[in-house]
Amino acid sequence: MHARAGAIALCLLASPAAAPVSGQGPGRTWITDVTIVSPERLDQVGRGSVLVENGRIARVDRNAETRAPAGATVVSGHGQFLIPGLIDSHVHLASIPGMDFSREAANAEIVREYLVQLPRSYLYFGYTTLVDLAVVKPEVLADFRKAPLHPDLFDCGESLPVANGYPMSFAPPALRFKVFPNFIYDSGQASSIPAEYRPEDHTPAADVARVKQAGGICVKTYYEHGFGRDRHLPVMSAETFADVRRAATATGLVLMVHANSFEAQRFAEDGGADVIAHGMWNWGDLDRRQDLPGEITALLDRIAANRTGYQPTMQVIEGLRVYFDPQYLGMPAIPKVVPPAMLMWFKSPEGAWFKSEIADSAMTDSAERAGIDRGPLRRGRQVVAYLAKKDASFLFGTDTPSSPTYGNLPGLNGYLEMQHLHEAGLTLGQIFRAATISNARAFKIDSAYGTIEPGKIANLVLLRRSPLESVEAYDSISMVWVHGRAIARDSLVALATP
Ligand SMILES: [Zn+2]
Repeated sequence: MHARAGAIALCLLASPAAAPVSGQGPGRTWITDVTIVSPERLDQVGRGSVLVENGRIARVDRNAETRAPAGATVVSGHGQFLIPGLIDSHVHLASIPGMDFSREAANAEIVREYLVQLPRSYLYFGYTTLVDLAVVKPEVLADFRKAPLHPDLFDCGESLPVANGYPMSFAPPALRFKVFPNFIYDSGQASSIPAEYRPEDHTPAADVARVKQAGGICVKTYYEHGFGRDRHLPVMSAETFADVRRAATATGLVLMVHANSFEAQRFAEDGGADVIAHGMWNWGDLDRRQDLPGEITALLDRIAANRTGYQPTMQVIEGLRVYFDPQYLGMPAIPKVVPPAMLMWFKSPEGAWFKSEIADSAMTDSAERAGIDRGPLRRGRQVVAYLAKKDASFLFGTDTPSSPTYGNLPGLNGYLEMQHLHEAGLTLGQIFRAATISNARAFKIDSAYGTIEPGKIANLVLLRRSPLESVEAYDSISMVWVHGRAIARDSLVALATP
């Protein structure tokens, strides 16, 4: 990861943004003399102009000679590349990087500043649409949507863990049903579920109905036995999952399953999940195999053939490794996305608390920490490489932050995820589609997002370099438009006291 720090620094230093149009309202804008890179027409990348009116794309002109329409603010994209705003379909906005609940409470001012910066950090790296997978603090999402500048935000409502299963198991028994009130009742565990919760209110159908009613576009559930000290957590049966599937289909919601093992991904695929929300870094009994076992490739073939959405979330593992990387917190991009007080706290002895928790976790075994066998990372990569060759339906999702790690920072985490995807074998075209049109289609928001086409919301990103030539292009942003409003990238950096 440190090898990349230098490149990031150079890009940031060399980016004087086109300041004059910054802050301009959502009137009429003519973005001209620009190379249009839109994922539905990657065979027709060329110079042209885009007219933005009242927050929407009004016209896409692929003739470079057309004149500016009357009354439009003209933005020259000379030598630059215009892409649709990026979509990250796996974030957790209310989770604070580097902190657990008690540390959040003890550092309220740091958290407040961070949450003010949060939408800006996503925009800083070109993310103009997000999907939050598990609403635990609706007020954080409400504040996010009220921020002066923010990405468009969709969510999966409250997630559906099995009673006492992952991730509600992380909360103390007295608290977990309050934090995850949309859990799935399990009659086998009746004695471990508070009496105030009635089984009929916690069927898959009732839970999915609550998500739909709250305005969710997706349903998130889990198949996870756990790791570290809690590795025997209850998981749902195939019959229960079939009920979730039926309810999601009936309500038109996208069904996402947290699954990071061979067993879990097979469960998700067998049950007809729409999206597998993680890479496959646990192979169970096959963990020690250095090659990709035939049992696994058979499953991956089905995932690719069925066009099941696949989010590799490689930064989940990378984001744990940073605690063993003394140079990580020195990355020049970090002060761009988190306020100074938070970065100072990360660097304090208290800020490193999560390191010892990771040491206990099965996600990084001791051999891996010693750099001998990077097990989970290796296995995740092998699976991604195989799926890339099959041109599986990759969906770009970062799982930011995936744990209380400071290794998954908003916006920056997406940029790092793209680098890992590319190293693992995804082509630049696959990465670009995953973060634009594929995400838009999978989450059924493609009538408004994902391409540069007339009628769509004018969420756009202007890059100095082509995203079809290097991943580093995603760190060469000069301008971002949200609903037609132009924002110079430099104006989005974290401030001392917003
Ligand atoms: Zn997640």
